[in-house]
Amino acid sequence: MRILVTGGAGFIGSTYVRALLSRAYGPAAHTVTVLDKLTYAGNRDNLPTGHRRLTFVRGDICDARLLAELLPGHEAAVHFAAESHVDRSIDGAADFVRTNVLGTQTLLEAAVDARVQRVVHVSTDEVYGSITTGSWTEEAPLLPNSPYAASKAGSDLIARAYRRTHGLDVSLTRCSNNYGPHQHPEKVIPRFVTNLLEGEPVPVYGDGRHRREWLHVEDHCRAVHLVLERGRAGEVYHIGGGDELSNLELTERLLDLCGADPSMIRHVPDRKGHDLRYALDDRKIRDELGYAPRHTLADGLARTVAWYRDNPEWWKAVRHRAPATGR
Ligand code: NAD
Repeated sequence: MRILVTGGAGFIGSTYVRALLSRAYGPAAHTVTVLDKLTYAGNRDNLPTGHRRLTFVRGDICDARLLAELLPGHEAAVHFAAESHVDRSIDGAADFVRTNVLGTQTLLEAAVDARVQRVVHVSTDEVYGSITTGSWTEEAPLLPNSPYAASKAGSDLIARAYRRTHGLDVSLTRCSNNYGPHQHPEKVIPRFVTNLLEGEPVPVYGDGRHRREWLHVEDHCRAVHLVLERGRAGEVYHIGGGDELSNLELTERLLDLCGADPSMIRHVPDRKGHDLRYALDDRKIRDELGYAPRHTLADGLARTVAWYRDNPEWWKAVRHRAPATGR
């Protein structure tokens, strides 16, 4: 298959591209085009540039003319490109609405015109808002609280509309929090690990009681590929199955793995509108597509910390390049 991957230089997109090129999902020798704007979050070092089945195009998913040139000839598109950091969306939401909503619409319009046979739109559990107990099914109402989550919810509705209106063969995935190598150090796990590796304290929002489900990025990407190959058009699939921890419990694990003690914790004022808890019911993808995560959090976190310890040149370059956020 010839697959267009948007946002393929970012954390999750690049993990997916590396897996495709190394045939992690089966023997098929897929050809991959990465379309990425290379914002502060994109990094070409995340990709095996020079791989003979990979073409890299630097460009914006809001650029309709570029998409009209690029999409014809691709059988599938997997759409990861987004502005992805909640804190940045609180500081300024315009880029989030532009890329996540307008960019998704521009991509899907081009996919219709180019008769792309199959599209997966990658979304997030954050579109549902916050849940105190239990978990969301795919039918739960969209009640996003942050500008990031609202822009992703908007993109999900655009995808639904392109299915209904234009008959585009698009499925949606909504995943919980990801962790793993190559994640930008603005996100909590690499932020805390790289702080600790540099001997700096870690900033915990509020009292640290907010709860998240953590899934290894490779499990997320394998599930996205399952949906690409066998998911039903117009359907939403939850990708969960990670372990649920409070932010304070997560911090304690990271301190432990980095050989630091709780004196490194600094409580900082809580994030505005901070969702207390996310939790996904992922029975649909398990029953329909046979998905099950392979990584345990204990092992996955230990290997992630080891990756950051072994690759300081990667995160030092990235960390000192990105414009700072509030925390
Ligand atoms: P990321 O910020 O690491 O990567 C985003 C990539 O998109 C970057 O390479 C960036 O350069 C590119 N990009 C941004 N704007 C663009 C534009 N206008 N045109 C082309 N490329 C553009 O994000 P990530 O963590 O890899 O997330 C990927 C997707 O997965 C996003 O859609 C996100 O909403 C979703 N998601 C992320 C998580 C998570 O925990 N990180 C969980 C669930 C869903």
